[in-house]
Amino acid sequence: MPSSAARWDVTLDDLRGALARGELVFYFQPKVSMVLGTLCGAEALIRWRRGDGSIVPPAAFIPLAESSGFITEITLGMLDELVADLAILHAVDRGLVVSFNASARDFEERRLVDSLVRLLDGGLLPAGGVEVELTESAVLAAGPPLVERLDVLRKRGVSLAMDDFGTGYSSIDTLSRLPFTTLKVDQGIVGRMQESAKDATIVESSIRLAHCLGLDIVAEGIETEAVFLRLQAAGCSVGQGFWMGRPMPLDDLVALLRSGRRWPAGAIGLVHMAMLDHLEWRKALVDALLSAEPGGNPPPPDAFSRFDIEPTECRLGRWYKGPAKELAGIAAFAELEEPHDALHACGKRIVSASLRGVRFHDLVSEMRDLTRHSTRIIGLLQELEHAVLERLADGERARSGQQREARASAAAAPR
Ligand code: C2E
Ligand code: MG
Ligand code: MG
Repeated sequence: MPSSAARWDVTLDDLRGALARGELVFYFQPKVSMVLGTLCGAEALIRWRRGDGSIVPPAAFIPLAESSGFITEITLGMLDELVADLAILHAVDRGLVVSFNASARDFEERRLVDSLVRLLDGGLLPAGGVEVELTESAVLAAGPPLVERLDVLRKRGVSLAMDDFGTGYSSIDTLSRLPFTTLKVDQGIVGRMQESAKDATIVESSIRLAHCLGLDIVAEGIETEAVFLRLQAAGCSVGQGFWMGRPMPLDDLVALLRSGRRWPAGAIGLVHMAMLDHLEWRKALVDALLSAEPGGNPPPPDAFSRFDIEPTECRLGRWYKGPAKELAGIAAFAELEEPHDALHACGKRIVSASLRGVRFHDLVSEMRDLTRHSTRIIGLLQELEHAVLERLADGERARSGQQREARASAAAAPR
């Protein structure tokens, strides 16, 4: 089979002409909050709409644009359209985050960052409403100026997503070097989750990795409800894929937004993340205490530096004030704050005693207190889990009731 590019037989002159005639347009693919089940964003994906109405996919011209360097002219040339489309979308929903793809080549010179900064400063691009997606192989190909330029955008509040995470190599190294805010798991590996236990584990571990790094996580390539539900259960917060919507023209996305369309909501993965967070926090304290013991000497002042001592700093605390706010209506959620504060107060006493040279075996009663608060937290998280499961069951019952009614009225309708 000929490659997509060969089938369309695109030359650089064709591309120049297409850009000059305004034939390059954005299609938008919806992104869905897997916690709320609502549309929360979209990815702008380029298409070439030719004079005869045919649509040329990006695979037919992006590789040529990248290898020739013309990609930067395209990226810069599309910024006005991005601004205009975003304004239309934000008129319907202010909270929508729209991402667009940028190639590493776009960051080899200053023009893209300068243009984006001008648009941000001029209020034409709202920083919180836009995200840049960089593909991993592109990131690997770029040198230190890329890091500096990405930092400029980050400091202005623009989100940065690592696209296609899981393809290529050194991805974890790249994650630690660049100021990403979002991890986008590659569609290939997401698509294989149902057939391969290994791939499912890799995707689920990537979700956990992103959570532990404080990154937003998006899974792309969701083609079935089963994959959607599985990712949701694993704590994935945002999903994108054909099952929720294919890339579509702007007007269709506006209509979808206006329709108030919903997908299954579910916060169970969010609750399970918090349970793990709490257990890991406790383990970090015990690890730090034990490593402070060797030789019976007082521990060095930095012995607890990797341990989050403040209730607002630990992952559970950040979860509580951040993504988990969606659970605020549930009684067990409100009750969590008090034992969590008490847990940290107790943790602080243990740390300061240890730093004063008090040995581990003399801290047993403090550790018992810690366990009491910890048990209460786990109990409340389990209650939260029950409340979320009940919500899911109510939703399921309502859906099957509606389906029964629809079937009954279809059967009763005159033929
Ligand atoms: P990407 O950024 O990873 O975009 C996701 C691609 O996956 C899109 O293909 C989308 O249509 C496809 N996709 C989404 N959900 C599913 C699914 O459930 N199943 C399957 N099989 N595919 C799904 P598209 O639009 O053909 O874009 C392909 C690639 O072209 C993009 O991959 C991106 O790397 C590049 N691209 C697209 N627009 C631009 C652009 O404006 N600038 C640059 N530099 N690259 C772009
Ligand atoms: Mg992308
Ligand atoms: Mg991708």
